[in-house]
Amino acid sequence: GGTLYVVATPIGNLDDLSPRATRTLARVDVVAAEDTRHSGRLLSHLGLHKRLIALHDHNEKDRASALIAELAAGRDVALISDAGTPLISDPGYVVVREARSAGYPVSPIPGPCALVAALSAAGLPTDRFLFAGFLPAKRAARRSALESLGSETATLVFYESPHRVLDCVQDVADILGPDREIVLGREITKTFETFYSGTVSVVQEAMETDPHGSRGEFVLMIRGAQAETGKESAGELDADRLIRALLPELP
Ligand code: SAM
Repeated sequence: GGTLYVVATPIGNLDDLSPRATRTLARVDVVAAEDTRHSGRLLSHLGLHKRLIALHDHNEKDRASALIAELAAGRDVALISDAGTPLISDPGYVVVREARSAGYPVSPIPGPCALVAALSAAGLPTDRFLFAGFLPAKRAARRSALESLGSETATLVFYESPHRVLDCVQDVADILGPDREIVLGREITKTFETFYSGTVSVVQEAMETDPHGSRGEFVLMIRGAQAETGKESAGELDADRLIRALLPELP
């Protein structure tokens, strides 16, 4: 059978396409792509002409069986999305799962991914982070999603669309407080790459005064809630100190 290659493509800068990604795309028989026109342009830029199969969230179940049939016929398939790493807020999960359960090798060709690029340069803790994709589009649902993550101590990472980003930052201010530290990575790897960082209110002001402020693509990162140094551990500390203070007095 064939192999399914999961190939990362650039998130804005074509030079980020790895030589191995290029070689893989050149070698496979079929390319499964989110938007065949968009990916067709990438392939023709590379001088490649490949059979393309469209793979969207809404047709993924149907297309998965067609792609499994390609693998069964011994043909290699590359899975790509419009930008970045497939399956990361993009289609591909059903195909990868089915290919694996049918016993075909699935091999990643790693590369750009907006959330990793954003985190790597944000200056927020990265030892633990929680990527939650896109927040809900509707305000009430978005606010309750933020509320449910309010006491999470890991760094929070979200994708956000340009027409919602200002509303979303306002919701962060309202729900998590204006003093929470956030970083917004905008147009990463592109001409207008910008990182806005600071408290929510500082970032809001910076975006409002920047003429490009809310244009482009965004990754929103929120510093996790400060771990409870609160009652329990403070209590333990006090007891410790008390015992040490009392020790010399004890018989
Ligand atoms: N699979 C992609 C990846 O690996 O990052 C993400 C796909 S998701 C449908 C698209 C979202 O990713 C955008 O709305 C934006 O939040 C984020 N994104 C993609 N490219 C970006 C860039 N160059 N700068 C900032 N955010 C980006």
